[in-house]
Amino acid sequence: MSLTFILGSIGLGLIAGSFLNALSFRFHTGTSIMHGRSRCMRCGHTLSALDLVPVLSYVLLGGRCRYCGVHISIQYPLVEIVAGVLSLGVYLTNPSILMYAFWFFVWMLILFIVVYDIRHTVIPWSCSLLLIGLSLLYIFANQSVPLEQLFAGPALAAPLLFVSLISQGMWMGWGDGVFELSLGWLLGLTLGLSALMIAIWSGALIGVILIVVERIVARLTPTASSRKSKWGFTMRSELPFAPFLALGAAVCYFFHVDLFSHIAIFF
Ligand SMILES: [Zn+2]
Repeated sequence: MSLTFILGSIGLGLIAGSFLNALSFRFHTGTSIMHGRSRCMRCGHTLSALDLVPVLSYVLLGGRCRYCGVHISIQYPLVEIVAGVLSLGVYLTNPSILMYAFWFFVWMLILFIVVYDIRHTVIPWSCSLLLIGLSLLYIFANQSVPLEQLFAGPALAAPLLFVSLISQGMWMGWGDGVFELSLGWLLGLTLGLSALMIAIWSGALIGVILIVVERIVARLTPTASSRKSKWGFTMRSELPFAPFLALGAAVCYFFHVDLFSHIAIFF
């Protein structure tokens, strides 16, 4: 473990985060990721290398486009910082280069799924399938992972898929259950169950906070239209669940929070 690798892993994460930002805007929108340089979304000015330094460009330019002054989404520096921290976390938990590369790819894919789910409230099937492929590769190619871990994915995904089934995808999207399938395979049963618990608790907490805020806003603003335009959500709007699943998985993976390790003796 050296300072060079620590700084290198953070740098690699920042660059990957910058790439994921561009991909989250272009993916499935008909614009190819290979289609030329990045441009300002408003004035169309081609961005120079100076405008594309992760985090630093955003801070130095005060969160505005250098050419037309339009506000740049906070998503850019946020995703870059999260990717940098994830990459450092992956290096600290996996100092071997092969395992670092594998988990780096897995966590960047998970981050992309989260960003995409928040932006578009859907998880792309190609991303879900890629993550399923990676998680199965992890179980079959890694001698230290017991084959019983194959059971963890379906066991943890089943409750979510059941909720989707009885509500016809209204209370929970099908993509969340498919996402959980991979997380279960990657984390195993007890760690995966802990992650799912943290996801449900944090999701419920944020959901209640949003409802309370919405009620207060409803009292303060008399008409429904002004309410909607100001906050952009109502009590009925569904909260994307993939970010909470990923949050739980990150807490359990990086900090080894295992709430159910004692039940492992039964398996
Ligand atoms: Zn501009």
